[in-house]
Amino acid sequence: MGRGNREEEQAKSFATKLIHFEGAYDTATGASSVPLYQASTFHQADVEAGQTYDYTRSGNPTRQVLEDYIAQLEGGVRGFAFASGMAAISSAFMILSAGDHVICTEDVYGGTYRLLTTIMNRMNVETTFVDMTDLEQVKAALRPNTKAVFIETPSNPTLRITDIGAVVQWAKQHELLTMLDNTFMTPYHQRPIELGVDIVLHSATKFLGGHSDVLGGLAVVASEELGRRMKAIQNGMGNVLGIQDSWLLMRGMKTLKARMDAHEQGARRLAEWLAGRSDISAVYYPGLPNHPGRAIHEKQSKGYGAVVSFDVGSGKRAKRLMDKVTIPLVAVSLGAVESILSYPPLMSHAAMPKEVRAERGITDGILRYSVGLEDIEDIIADLDQALAE
Ligand SMILES: *Cc1c(COP(=O)(O)O)cnc(C)c1O
Repeated sequence: MGRGNREEEQAKSFATKLIHFEGAYDTATGASSVPLYQASTFHQADVEAGQTYDYTRSGNPTRQVLEDYIAQLEGGVRGFAFASGMAAISSAFMILSAGDHVICTEDVYGGTYRLLTTIMNRMNVETTFVDMTDLEQVKAALRPNTKAVFIETPSNPTLRITDIGAVVQWAKQHELLTMLDNTFMTPYHQRPIELGVDIVLHSATKFLGGHSDVLGGLAVVASEELGRRMKAIQNGMGNVLGIQDSWLLMRGMKTLKARMDAHEQGARRLAEWLAGRSDISAVYYPGLPNHPGRAIHEKQSKGYGAVVSFDVGSGKRAKRLMDKVTIPLVAVSLGAVESILSYPPLMSHAAMPKEVRAERGITDGILRYSVGLEDIEDIIADLDQALAE
């Protein structure tokens, strides 16, 4: 549908690829956006011949453009669009079989933790959670039946950094499948396939969609073989992204770079402002000079992202701040045009026992700020009044 061959497409800079992807306009009519093929089935003029599209669960031209789009942006071989981030992540785990063992980062997204500990365990897939910032812990978790390593970096909410290249290099020596949740960075800032990761996963609900109006998940694989397996899983499980949502997601993705640049400018300013206050006991942002993972992060990512976490010292103070802020949504989720303030102890990490939370820096005073596109000085003034005693 597009112009130029695959090599030419790859050579384009990221900003250009975001706008001029294959299928970005309709070659039949010249229409400036992907047509919505709102159809569940396709007429078969010759039932013996077979055709590209026969039923929308198995393939749909609108969804296909999105799947090719994310594969191109991540530098992978094939992309898949799912009904949510968790649908994408759970589908990737379906590559495993009963009896297999997974090594997973301990501060993984709560939904992934729940999937592994309440569903995959019943399928007889066992998981060991380790502090993945420490390669020795990863190595020590290896068992004869270990089949996969699941990475998430930066992690949530304390933005800890895993050395992707180091983990992948070790995993390859042991023929382990590597999967990475790239939601916080997006392919604009971090392209794990270029670092050797096998499957990249996204909650497209966050930065890729970018407007808090669509739920979706994406997966990109690094080889044709994995592509065939993921395709069979997606078709077999039937957890595909709908046509309208596929379109909406592409609409959001076109502005990814412009949004990420602006988000990050704000997040850096916010992190510095918070770090300069004596009444904030900790600020977590990979762009701060004292962030323990900063050097590793800079080696593998082109940006620091839009999420800043900070500790106001107590649960009481955190709740007061949430009552007094006027700009952000106080909500779960992140990565949208509007700022979103989350309270991990009662939201994303509520299921985690208090002692475990404390060990991971998730104190009662911690808040997570996803910086939106409002004027950063307004965001700061709003926080300043909310923090005043
Ligand atoms: C939100 C999120 C998910 C889950 O995605 P859904 O679209 O909500 O299913 C997975 N990983 C990370 C890092 C997330 O932030």
